Amino acid sequence: MTVMNKKVKKQTMQFQTEVEQLLSLLAKSVYSNKDIVLRELVSNASDAIDKLRYESKQNSELLADSEAFKIWIDFDQKEKILSIRDNGIGMSQEELVNNLGTIARSGTANYLKSLQDSGDNLDSLIGQFGVGFYSTFVIADKVTVTTKRASAQDESPCVWESSGKGDYVISPASADTPVGTTIQLHLKSDMDNFLQDWYVRKIITTYSDHIDVPIAMKVAKEQTEEQRKENAAIEFEFEVVNQSKALWTQAKKDVNDEQYENFFNSLSHTSGKPLAWVHNKVEGKVDYTMLLYVPETAPFDLWNREKVKGIRLYSQRTFIMDDAEQFLPLYLRFVKGIVDSSDLPLNISREILQDSDVVTKIKSGCTKKILGLLESMAKEDPEKYNKFWAQFGEVLKEGPGEDFANKDQIAKLLRFSTSKSETNSQTTSLADYVANMAKDQEKIYYVTAETYTAALHSPHLEIFKKHDIEVLLLSNRVDEWLASHLTEFDGKKLICVTKGELDLPKDVKDKLKQEDEVTAKDYEDIIKRVKEVLGDKVKDVRMTSRLTDSPACLVADEQEMSANLKRMLRQSGQDFMDSNPILELNPSHGLVQSLKSESEDNMFAKWCTILFNQAMLAEGGQLEDPATFVNDLNSMMLRYIGN
Ligand code: ADP
Ligand code: MG
Repeated sequence: MTVMNKKVKKQTMQFQTEVEQLLSLLAKSVYSNKDIVLRELVSNASDAIDKLRYESKQNSELLADSEAFKIWIDFDQKEKILSIRDNGIGMSQEELVNNLGTIARSGTANYLKSLQDSGDNLDSLIGQFGVGFYSTFVIADKVTVTTKRASAQDESPCVWESSGKGDYVISPASADTPVGTTIQLHLKSDMDNFLQDWYVRKIITTYSDHIDVPIAMKVAKEQTEEQRKENAAIEFEFEVVNQSKALWTQAKKDVNDEQYENFFNSLSHTSGKPLAWVHNKVEGKVDYTMLLYVPETAPFDLWNREKVKGIRLYSQRTFIMDDAEQFLPLYLRFVKGIVDSSDLPLNISREILQDSDVVTKIKSGCTKKILGLLESMAKEDPEKYNKFWAQFGEVLKEGPGEDFANKDQIAKLLRFSTSKSETNSQTTSLADYVANMAKDQEKIYYVTAETYTAALHSPHLEIFKKHDIEVLLLSNRVDEWLASHLTEFDGKKLICVTKGELDLPKDVKDKLKQEDEVTAKDYEDIIKRVKEVLGDKVKDVRMTSRLTDSPACLVADEQEMSANLKRMLRQSGQDFMDSNPILELNPSHGLVQSLKSESEDNMFAKWCTILFNQAMLAEGGQLEDPATFVNDLNSMMLRYIGN
């Protein structure tokens, strides 16, 4: 099949708005570590070679007349140009526009906006976006990319050039351009150190030593005594400066922490240190090696469950694909690393990965290792674990619902704020909670609410505070989901305190029982009247011992959804079977007591609706008719001050 070459015409093109914003942020940023620009370019070159290696497995024609895969680094001292060339996949004109003119990640626009507002230190910018290429403008005031796509149809080579301000120019490249890509950085005036081979060598050995293609750098040839005497012109040669050995294939004892950390940096495109890692070789039914990291900070799109970035897949050191989401469950999507297995064929596709036994085994192995890693971090370095939790706790909370097999282990890793913690720090484990349980306490109590403060001040907690019983405060978005899947820990049931009958420890229950019987009788008539007024707004009305300070609260039946869950469903516009709450009244509260003496029906009705509505508000609920509530309240207040 012959396809007409698309002729490349010289044209000036506008960067996508997001790119322009990013570039202007980069220009303003105090970018402390400029060396990583080189790391990013080498990483792109190596990716490009990985891609060609992979594509050529399907189509060997692509390698027709190419030499062995390599990356070259060259200096032009006179013109102050640093160039990086690879003989990888290259880019077609269309790819150039897509790859070097836009940012594809969703959510980018919003994130950029938040950055502009915050004016933060932008050091992690590049890592957050994974947009290494644009970082070139931190050290160069002009960048020229000359590239030719490896293709059976002889693509036309192109040149892309820009000074990183608003637009770029695409034009045809000379016909003898080899397959691959050359990036020329026209260095800014104060960036001369990037022209020095010893300096560049240091960067490569620090960040790119493990890249498994040779990186050849132009160096001056050592002169002989004679040549020096004769003042002969210096000759140059290309010298391979990296070890080009995949880090994960080496034995653990031969790799030091710094090397592991640097590898993480090049994998994650961040400059921070990883919190922890696990490097493990598994031999058995399935042979594979994993090197997995828990990063220090969450990427801005951690909540994007569709686009999971993280695991790079290799088969016997040959790169297969990026972002292989099949090797870890979603609740561990913050993990970065590589998996290399000789049991996966090179031409495997994402679809096949999805239902491969080998993948299932590797996934379960990786999951166990990461959970083990977190467990020992929690045990040995709680402070570090708290840091981890602050970044990724909410994601881990998806675990009990997603991963039944490891539910118990995940449960041990969870951390909560409680009615006894001083701040919303989420540092109490379920094991801590159980160790602090009151005498006779058999259940683990929790409350869910929209915010930490709402949970902390929930009227439902009053009786628990009075009797010094701790309650877990759940206010993350994911908590309702967690609570519906985590129903037991260490043989103890988790109980939502806003649902069902109060299930207190026996000791407390006995104390309350006698009082309850008396008040129930005492208030029989009142309850009847309240029910008449509220009608089908409530499922039931009853006296309660739940409350000490508040006059009333709303309770859901045990089997029903909590008020918090209903609120969330309503907000997200989902349909659900709504059910009416049970109104519980506090007989020791003055307002409830005064109901007894209220003979005027009209007034009695107003009291009832006020009590019902304020209980609804305290729950974080919305009133059906807020204006009438305010009017009722005002008329009661006026009556109180005697008007
Ligand atoms: P990322 O590497 O995370 O995708 P970059 O900003 O570093 O982001 O690169 C953007 C894209 O440009 C790459 O995904 C790739 O498609 C393309 N690209 C960059 N450098 C090269 C290169 N040397 N050869 C081929 N394609 C490249
Ligand atoms: Mg890159």
